[in-house]
Amino acid sequence: MKEMIYMDHAATTPVRREVVRAMLPYFHQYYGNPSSIYEKGAESRRAMDKAREQIADVIHGKPEEICFTSGGTEADQLAICGAAEAVFSKKNHIITTAIEHHAVLHTCEKMKEKGWNVTFLPVNREGQVSPADVRRAIRKETGLISVMAANNEVGTIQPLEEIGEIANRHGILFHTDAVQALGQIPVSVEKWKVDLLSGSAHKFYGPKGTGFLYVRSGVKIEPQILGGGQEEGLRSGTENVPGIVGAGQAIKAAESHREQDSLVIKGKRDYLIRRVIREVPRCRLTGSLRNRLPGNASFLFGGIDGNSLVYLLGEDGICVSSGSACSSGSGKPSHVLLAMNYSAEAAYGSLRITLGIENSQEEIDWVADRIREHVNRLRRSS
Ligand SMILES: *Cc1c(COP(=O)(O)O)cnc(C)c1O
Repeated sequence: MKEMIYMDHAATTPVRREVVRAMLPYFHQYYGNPSSIYEKGAESRRAMDKAREQIADVIHGKPEEICFTSGGTEADQLAICGAAEAVFSKKNHIITTAIEHHAVLHTCEKMKEKGWNVTFLPVNREGQVSPADVRRAIRKETGLISVMAANNEVGTIQPLEEIGEIANRHGILFHTDAVQALGQIPVSVEKWKVDLLSGSAHKFYGPKGTGFLYVRSGVKIEPQILGGGQEEGLRSGTENVPGIVGAGQAIKAAESHREQDSLVIKGKRDYLIRRVIREVPRCRLTGSLRNRLPGNASFLFGGIDGNSLVYLLGEDGICVSSGSACSSGSGKPSHVLLAMNYSAEAAYGSLRITLGIENSQEEIDWVADRIREHVNRLRRSS
């Protein structure tokens, strides 16, 4: 066995070699500031334009609708605060869900403290939001709906097409955090009828610290970072050119391999799920069987602490997580599992495995063996 087995692709992914290769010249050779008017600046501008096209192409948007950010978190913040501020004089109600990533959840909680009305929609046992609930939550003063495309903990894919239809019919701005969806399932701003869509390169085998917000032409949102007026004034600050080049290359590569890779990964994931469910007593799969990201296998084990399990697996060189990277170690049960109506006690027994393209069958068998042994050991010792 390899010394380390990485199965935490929802937390981050390794950068593809060809992506690193594409980025390198932008550190030392083409280092001009894209805002500079001489040729050295134009080199960087052209590289950014290409990345904008590559991203727009994959999500079915237009290059001028892509605004680069420092990652998914900033894109979410820009979308929510930016849209909320832009419509504030007329509308002061936001609809979101109880299972959003903290980047959305904490931002919406902050808006609530500032006097906005925020509805956090419930989800069913599989972690899915009901479009009918979205429709019922709409008020005259609703200015924004934000529903993630796919959940980072349990991998549940949301019915975005139906929700987009509803938002569109009511003329309400629609944002989706598509950070987990990109590179995994088809993402289309047209099909989903979204006005705003967040993405992050390090979740699709690109570099950390680079993300983007898609902003539909004609949609006005307020910038959250002011300064030199980069990105059409929407996001000031000198652009991370190597990161942006990497994001463009990574999304292109991810999309060209997506269909084939997702089939292979799904096959391995289903095998892993079958083995764990069959071999470990008092274990259940969380989330949906059908509407699920291809690499996600999330479990609850009765009577054990998920963090202890993650720790023991870590000693074997296996990288997995309990809940999300952001909440593991925080000592709080996952807000996603609580929203899915699991008790806090049950939620403590959670384990999230997210497979990627480099995981072999041999690794999967080894991980299934180790899970079985550690869960048994933990139960015996408690
Ligand atoms: C990782 C993640 C984010 C945050 O993206 P960063 O680029 O790490 O800031 C936001 N939303 C979801 C669903 C994520 O999985």
